[in-house]
Amino acid sequence: MPEFRHDPVQKRWVIIAIERGKRPDDFKEKNNDIPHVEFCPFCEGNEDKTPNEIFAIREKGTKANEPGWKIRVIPNKFPALTSSGDLNREGLGIYDVMNGVGAHEVIVETTQHDLHMGDMPLDHLFQITKIYRDRILSLMENEILRYVLIFKNHGKTAGASLEHPHTQIIATPITPLTIAQELTSSREHYLAKERCLFCDILTQELHVPERIVIQTPRFVVLAPYASRFPFECWLLPRFHSHDFTRMEDDELREFATVLKEVLYRLKVCLGDPPYNFMLHTAPNPHPRPGKPDYWSTLEYDYHWHIEIIPRVTRVAGFEWGTGFYINPTPPEIACKYLKQVELPQV
Ligand SMILES: [Zn+2]
Ligand SMILES: [Zn+2]
Repeated sequence: MPEFRHDPVQKRWVIIAIERGKRPDDFKEKNNDIPHVEFCPFCEGNEDKTPNEIFAIREKGTKANEPGWKIRVIPNKFPALTSSGDLNREGLGIYDVMNGVGAHEVIVETTQHDLHMGDMPLDHLFQITKIYRDRILSLMENEILRYVLIFKNHGKTAGASLEHPHTQIIATPITPLTIAQELTSSREHYLAKERCLFCDILTQELHVPERIVIQTPRFVVLAPYASRFPFECWLLPRFHSHDFTRMEDDELREFATVLKEVLYRLKVCLGDPPYNFMLHTAPNPHPRPGKPDYWSTLEYDYHWHIEIIPRVTRVAGFEWGTGFYINPTPPEIACKYLKQVELPQV
């Protein structure tokens, strides 16, 4: 079973995925491209190469785990966390350890092996975003799971081991440090000003729109003021909303339009770069034993968003050593280039 091990120096948890048990040879650089997969487990017809599906949108009359699907949700074949068992929190001398309980799922976004998300038909992407919402809601029914992260790795340098378009979901019994830091600064801002930090950022950015890449009635994409990486983009709702799962279908459809557009702009502008995106939304609202007020102000002070990071530079020694980032492309310049991309005529 995988384990969560706590690092008492950096105060963060690390998942030690014992089952994966990779040996030195597994890490030796083979080539720069994702190896051609003759039998892609995510391609239609290869359903028997994946664990049984959790959910799928299918053509009428087709059976689970057989061809005829449009989007499939499956458990990860090599999960970072396991879905059964207790946490078994334990102290080992100075260290803390607990069982790697959680969930690790994969959304196979399409039957088309090399379809970029920025090129997907809008209605298809809308269906995918509805699955994002539904899977978060479903996983949060399990009170042990504190946080559900939806994320995408596109391209090998962004961590994708398979080329076929897919999104991953990892649900953890701990609120991740990065999220906790965001929740804490949002709460502090709210306590001081009685305003949402992200709403304040949006108001200011929309006033002088040099970093606004896209704006629609309900959504904004901006190049953040202190972008860590070249062409980093954040996608946020314009109206205050702490929880992605509260979005109604018409809002989700508009969200899908904006997500598609920003991914398309990045693809054309940077020549289909590897990228990651991560959805940051409210943690599980179930009260925690012994901490009934934990994150109880979330509804007012947190604001969900998606962070999109094109992987055009590498995180190196300075970044690892300090937590600083050196970004060679100012966000104002990145924004200018992204806005110059011409969208395809619909
Ligand atoms: Zn495939
Ligand atoms: Zn807000």
